[in-house]
Amino acid sequence: MAPKRKYPFIKKEMKTSAYLCKVRESRRRMVLEHYSGSPPKCQNCGNTTYEMLELDHKNNDGKKDRKLGADIYQSIIKNSFPEGFQVLCANCHRYKTKTENLPIYSL
Ligand SMILES: [Zn+2]
Repeated sequence: MAPKRKYPFIKKEMKTSAYLCKVRESRRRMVLEHYSGSPPKCQNCGNTTYEMLELDHKNNDGKKDRKLGADIYQSIIKNSFPEGFQVLCANCHRYKTKTENLPIYSL
C-alpha cells in the first residue's frame, strides 16, 4: 500500500492551475490572431510584441465584458468571434481609452 501523502491537494491544485494558464494562453493567442492575423500585431502602429497586445472594443463598449476578465477570450470563441474587436498594443490602447482616438504615427 502506497503511503498517504501529507498534502495531496497541493500537487493536484498546481496541475490544475498550470493547465488553466495554458488553456487561457492558447485561447488568447487564437483570438488575437483571428482579429489581427498571424503573428498578431497592433492594428494601429504594427507593434508585434505579443506580451503588449490587448483586445480593444472598437466602439468603447467594453464595460459589459469587463467582469469576464480573462474569460473574455473564451466568450469570444464561444460566440464565433463577433464584430467590434481589434488588437492594439498597450500604448495605443491606453491612448485610445484616454482620448477616444487612436494615436497617429508617422512611420
Ligand atoms: Zn500600437
